[in-house]
Amino acid sequence: MNRMRPSLTFLGGVGTVTGSKYLLDTGTTRVLLECGLFQGLSNLRRRNWAEPPVDWHSVDAVVLTHAHLDHSGYLPVLARQGWSGPVYATPGTARLAQIVLADSAHLQEEDARYAAEGGWSKHATPRPLYDTADAARACELFVPVPHGEITRITRDVALTFGRAGHILGSAWAQLDVAGTDRRLVHSGDMGRAEHPLLRPPEPRPACDALLLESTYGDRLRHDETSGDMLASAITRTVERGGSVLVPAFAVDRTEVLLTALRDLTRTARIPDVPIVVDSPMALACLRIYREAIAQRWPEIRPGLAVDALDTRGLVEVQTAEESKHWNKPSSPAIIVSASGMATGGRVLHHLKDLLPDARNTVAIVGFAAEGTRARQLVEGARQVKIHGDYVPVRAEVVALDAFSAHADSDELTAWAAGAAGAVATGAAGTAAPHTCYVVHGEEHSSQAFAERLRRELNWTAVVPREGERVLV
Ligand SMILES: [Zn+2]
Repeated sequence: MNRMRPSLTFLGGVGTVTGSKYLLDTGTTRVLLECGLFQGLSNLRRRNWAEPPVDWHSVDAVVLTHAHLDHSGYLPVLARQGWSGPVYATPGTARLAQIVLADSAHLQEEDARYAAEGGWSKHATPRPLYDTADAARACELFVPVPHGEITRITRDVALTFGRAGHILGSAWAQLDVAGTDRRLVHSGDMGRAEHPLLRPPEPRPACDALLLESTYGDRLRHDETSGDMLASAITRTVERGGSVLVPAFAVDRTEVLLTALRDLTRTARIPDVPIVVDSPMALACLRIYREAIAQRWPEIRPGLAVDALDTRGLVEVQTAEESKHWNKPSSPAIIVSASGMATGGRVLHHLKDLLPDARNTVAIVGFAAEGTRARQLVEGARQVKIHGDYVPVRAEVVALDAFSAHADSDELTAWAAGAAGAVATGAAGTAAPHTCYVVHGEEHSSQAFAERLRRELNWTAVVPREGERVLV
């Protein structure tokens, strides 16, 4: 027990919801927890290109809690630099990450090409951050680790994943450092008990240091009205002859939305119109979700109907030609397309065509980060810039954040406390960590949530600074 304590350095995902990267250094080995891409504001995105704060070749292993880009999307940069793994993730995450990373590489290539052709880039010769080959190399590095299995990942670090209920494959991660008795737990992104397809999050284990996400750290949600709001938005849009566009995260949001639309269709609460999923990536993920349901993966809700994702009127758009057809639908339709924050992908073409017409509606169903088009729309922008052109916003915009895959402030607090309603200062609930680091949230949200943990649980809770190093 006389070994030095491990350290933790915050390399991203603090004061922002993107770019998650936390480096655990035991003095013997180094584990990079999350390898996320910065997204949104341009000063954040530029950081993907910056000189790395550490030599990635000194990292012995990467651990990913789930497949979302803000947790996994920087991995191909490491692969491009010749880093050769391993990357530990659950089997579901490993499967989904293949799709997510390939799509990200494709978007990087496309953006660079667009920028070069259009001449509107600030760079003389725009190049992608990484390409398809880098993403493929990154995917070869995955080592699947099922939830609940203790796995030695370096000479002195053992990993255990627990269910997080956020998206398929999602996990919280427990890292035990041998010879020191120190334990770090990272919430990853925390899901909600009400996820229609996934089992709820598993309770938090006791630990010395806790990394806790705070995407909705300062917000509560009112689920009762979300289905009603979606139903009425669709109904009034169709009545005025318009279409509804839903920019949706390809992973999980599309599935949750299809489940909701299936219910609304079955109970005749929305008109019978085509429900178009226009995103090859969303469709690839949909296939994995269907497989998970059919094969009864352990994280799938028991008793879930095998056809839970087979919504009436579903149109699965594969080719770019078919996609163009749906850009300006001749009669009302519901179009679900990625990316969720409208930062890239086919949804941009739909926005260009649908935003200028007041009959249409754009429904934002997930968290919209600062600097993204989805955020601008939620905040009432009268125009948004797409591929160098300003597009007028005349369509109705509705925000339905109850569809988000994140726990809200009450749910995060309950999970942190160790048991619903338990106060973790003593005997009740799981013992308080030595320190809780509030991460993965915009500054105001993280600060408000840290304050709540201090006030309600009497915890030492801090919002770490970018680049800060602490002892675990
Ligand atoms: Zn996520």
